[in-house]
Amino acid sequence: MIRRTHLHFFLIFTIFNSLSSEAVRAQTVQNPAHLDVDLRDAPKHIFHAKLTLPVTPGPLTLVYPKWIPGEHAPTGPIVDFTGLKIFASGKEIPWLHDDVDMFTFHVDVPGRVNALEISYDYLSPADTSASRESPSTTAKLAVLNWYMVTLYPAGPKTDDLTYVASLRLPQGWKYGTALPVAKESADLIEFTPATLTTVIDSPVVAGAYLRHIDLSPGQMPSHMVHVVADGPAPLEASAVEVQHMRQLVAETGALFGARHYRRYDFLLTLSDRMPSNGVEHHESSDDRTEEDFFTDPASFETSDLLSHEFTHSWNGKYRRPIGLATPDYQTPMKGDLLWVYEGLTQYYGLVLAARSGIMPLNLFRESLASTAASLNDRPGRTWRNLQDTAISAQILYSAPPEGSSWRRGVDYYDEGTLIWLEADTIIRKQTGGKKSLDDFCRAFHGGESTPPKVVPYAFDDVVAALNAIAPFDWSEFFTSRLKSHGPGAPLGGIENSGWKLVFTDILNEFEHIDELSTLALEFQFSLGLLVHASGGDDSGHIFDVIPGSPAANVGLAPGMRLVAVNGRRWSPDILRDAIDRAKNSKDPIELLAENGDFFETYRIDYHGGERYPHLEPVGGKTDLLTEIARTKAPAVPAPTKY
Ligand SMILES: [Zn+2]
Repeated sequence: MIRRTHLHFFLIFTIFNSLSSEAVRAQTVQNPAHLDVDLRDAPKHIFHAKLTLPVTPGPLTLVYPKWIPGEHAPTGPIVDFTGLKIFASGKEIPWLHDDVDMFTFHVDVPGRVNALEISYDYLSPADTSASRESPSTTAKLAVLNWYMVTLYPAGPKTDDLTYVASLRLPQGWKYGTALPVAKESADLIEFTPATLTTVIDSPVVAGAYLRHIDLSPGQMPSHMVHVVADGPAPLEASAVEVQHMRQLVAETGALFGARHYRRYDFLLTLSDRMPSNGVEHHESSDDRTEEDFFTDPASFETSDLLSHEFTHSWNGKYRRPIGLATPDYQTPMKGDLLWVYEGLTQYYGLVLAARSGIMPLNLFRESLASTAASLNDRPGRTWRNLQDTAISAQILYSAPPEGSSWRRGVDYYDEGTLIWLEADTIIRKQTGGKKSLDDFCRAFHGGESTPPKVVPYAFDDVVAALNAIAPFDWSEFFTSRLKSHGPGAPLGGIENSGWKLVFTDILNEFEHIDELSTLALEFQFSLGLLVHASGGDDSGHIFDVIPGSPAANVGLAPGMRLVAVNGRRWSPDILRDAIDRAKNSKDPIELLAENGDFFETYRIDYHGGERYPHLEPVGGKTDLLTEIARTKAPAVPAPTKY
């Protein structure tokens, strides 16, 4: 089905591409498109835009970005693209929506017309309940991703299209972006001409409460974090947190040895009105997380958001799998190498968080233990191998959590962590401790510092680069792990680094911090139950039951709602206590659950007690994990002023 759709799509693409080639040629560096975006109504969740596009008379095909870089999926928010009106010499002309591809519009440019004036709006969802894309606005801030407000002529590479962007903000709002600014006045920011690729790669954060923090003062290239929030309090980063973020910049220098950007800007949105998310770019990242990121130490310490997205500047943007290095935003992406793009980034996101001091060593280990235990206990592996999770990326990002242990999700992130840790330990072993995966990164992602550019790679390039660091059968190493149907997850890296996965009745610290916000992950290794812990209607929502587990065996299923434990209203503490007491009792644990309009009591004859994952050192083996997580760059002093 997907193949046929694509075939059809390409056919249309080719026909209109040839028809519109004359019109396309009108747009040049000397005669660029002008994209004027007005965010003054952003608090009303609407972005206005006007595009002035050089054209020549005749048929023209305009497209709205469909495949969004970093999202690895056809997620362009076309449903929220509204108000399209096209004018030629001041007179409105008709457009025709393509009847197969919803991201394509057809126009017939009248004779003697050399530019079209195109106006349209983007409607940002106001809250997170909508099933469409994430909100880009709150009453006090906005994140502008230019793809939301961009049309471009179909056909040429977006590297060959020149756009001059400008931006108007609500009164008093400040902004941050990596897109170079030509000039600005009180109410207008004019950017320097750039390729459409660069414009779309350079989002903007703006808001009434925005603060700039310099992460590499006095050094070139510059590194800034632009923090925007719904009020002033969340902007209060501590001196220690700023030191850790500065150390992160230093650690990437020590790791990669080169940078591939002119400047780097973290666009950090702290809002509880937007879901946490991160999207990478060459010279910036769109980083969104909870309002208490700086003010609750547990939130900052468990976060690999900044280290993960920053790593992508090298691994993902500069070095990119060939199937993801597409010439425009309409060509379908192929995710088969996402276990490198995302998997290696997931590994180094954690490692760099630890090296920079953001994540304390014990949380780094607890996070690894949780990852290893969860993946080790995923029956979905028996039908879907890791390679297929990467190939299926375009559908799995939007998969619901219900049933994910059977469906599998975007497991190439976390399983990538385990596999790259194992690769790291193998390099260390093969070279007698002289080399590590860091040397691979320096060779593969570093080289000479350059402005943003894409150097694509294939599977064999990864294998060759690893062989140059430490000869080994890397092809077989990756292939066997990508094609494995288990049982169990690849835990060799943990074992090689001197640790083993164990279960005790002490809560996993990383999972427990998660529980305090939303999800109780900790019953999955005892009862096999994953439950929403947050209050309100979501409380007790069972979002997964591990097939074959005690909970599954008595008939509990994802989508039900846990109401009571042994006759008393459920809470994570009540359930923990019941599991603990059942250890020394012959009575089953009674769970009352709601399934739609029906209630039923499920009796689980489980007496194994609480089980939470941890890593335990193996006596006599070298502790490589601590060495991997150790700070590598010279220590950056704690700031006194920032
Ligand atoms: Zn990523």
